[in-house]
Amino acid sequence: MNPEQGQTDCVFCKIASGEIPSNIIYQDDDVVVFPDINPITPVHLLIITRKHIPSLAHMADADTPLVGKMVKVANKLAREQGLSEKGYRVTINSGTEAGQIVPHLHLHFMGGRNLRWSH
Ligand code: 5GP
Ligand code: ZN
Repeated sequence: MNPEQGQTDCVFCKIASGEIPSNIIYQDDDVVVFPDINPITPVHLLIITRKHIPSLAHMADADTPLVGKMVKVANKLAREQGLSEKGYRVTINSGTEAGQIVPHLHLHFMGGRNLRWSH
């Protein structure tokens, strides 16, 4: 696998490259943002890395600025969605027991209603 070209069988790599069309909300050299296909909150966006990293557990030390960028973009989205003051949640599921389904690093940006904390 060449991380720069993405992984051929990865749905999020295909969305990032444009091979699978998506309603892209924001993109730059590092990240791509699009709505979750199965939203669980009124605002439910996915912030993915362009680089194919299978999970948070696979991030290298060199990826630290990239992960920071994902959080920075979440704050930018919050401002744009009018959620900075109301509140919002960012979640990264890493691995099976966390419920990660898509093995490509992504951050869930969720908001627009009162969120409970559940285990
Ligand atoms: P995970 O459980 O891996 O953290 O979350 C994966 C998320 O990706 C799920 O919320 C799921 O609805 C979303 N998802 C899976 N496949 C697609 C897709 O092809 N397009 C979009 N927009 N979202 C997807
Ligand atoms: Zn991928």
